[in-house]
Amino acid sequence: MINENKKAMSRTWAEINLNALENNYNVLKNLLLPGTKFAGVCKANAYGHGMIEIADKLQELGADYICVASVDEGVTLRENNITIPVLCLGQTDPELANLISRYEITQAVGDFENAELLSCYAQKNNVRIKIHIKLDTGMSRLGFYWPDDERNKIITAETIAKICKLDGIEAEGLFTHFSKADNDIAYTKMQYEKINEAKKYLSRLGINFNIIHASASSGILSSPDFQMNMCRFGIALYGYTYPDTGNEIKNIGLKPVMTVKSRISAVRNLPAGSKISYGGTYELKRDSKIAIIPAGYADCIPRNLSNNFSVKINNIKCPLIGRVCMDMTIIDVTDLACEIKSGDIAVIYDEELMMQAVKNSDTIIDEIVCRVLPRVTKIYIEN
Ligand SMILES: *Cc1c(COP(=O)(O)O)cnc(C)c1O
Repeated sequence: MINENKKAMSRTWAEINLNALENNYNVLKNLLLPGTKFAGVCKANAYGHGMIEIADKLQELGADYICVASVDEGVTLRENNITIPVLCLGQTDPELANLISRYEITQAVGDFENAELLSCYAQKNNVRIKIHIKLDTGMSRLGFYWPDDERNKIITAETIAKICKLDGIEAEGLFTHFSKADNDIAYTKMQYEKINEAKKYLSRLGINFNIIHASASSGILSSPDFQMNMCRFGIALYGYTYPDTGNEIKNIGLKPVMTVKSRISAVRNLPAGSKISYGGTYELKRDSKIAIIPAGYADCIPRNLSNNFSVKINNIKCPLIGRVCMDMTIIDVTDLACEIKSGDIAVIYDEELMMQAVKNSDTIIDEIVCRVLPRVTKIYIEN
């Protein structure tokens, strides 16, 4: 183990703090009303944190559901001892019905044709496939569009009811996704009312669902009344929220789970006038000391942070100069008072630097954590 860690920590690695994950789980769980189920979202390698280890911890903590984006993410979890319910949020080719069935994955369904194909498979093989009906209430992505006029409401409800009654299909859930929960409560309320209305229309047709869900992280933070009876937590579970929800992470006690570090490859003195990295976009204005860190855009640093980011060495911010390369980045350490040498550690992302990266590369925190690619070894820390 020590040797394994030594190898893992010889280049660039992400420390994943499972105690922070547990803290976030408990903080978020406390926001739920009694009886509301907790779904942890582990798609995209658990937002770069490592899906098997994160799902395993969530299972241990007592999460009710794990959400994934694709059937193969679900299969990966099942093959690694995840036994709690797994919901595949994305569309799955009905030709993969055998995987859905064999690995007992709950499948989101947003159209009649796919439901029918799943039902055919289930009947032929004498199995039951569990589904959650996806409703489009304003995101305009997947799902049954919930219309405004009475006639079409009835038609849509009847179509969904027909799916729920297909042989071999067990319709456990109904869900939608809020698209503006971080900054538009009125729109979110409209979406919430639509799913409630759909629920009512379906109930009249004798269809009732055990699980109804709509909120992801921003939804529960901005509109806690709209939790229905399950919430799907992604980014908040990993310690971050969007500023617009008015719930800065410190306020509710979330802790960032991931810290990315790298071991300095070389420290070099170069004369004024040296042109740094590809394209020579940065020229040293004075005799300088530079450090090379073995992390580039194929690890975790977006290339558009070239000449526009800092990493921390001995807790001092040092500027990234020149273009980010695929595997390496160059840092100006001339102003560091302390001695540094190859083998010393640079922090690429702590909470402050993550938010700096979000701002400077004009994106959202989700993209920054997801961009920590598998080549960056994960080290799981738990006291
Ligand atoms: C990704 C995703 C989530 C999780 O969203 P966060 O904002 O990260 O909490 C929930 N539901 C669906 C349908 C998603 O695609």
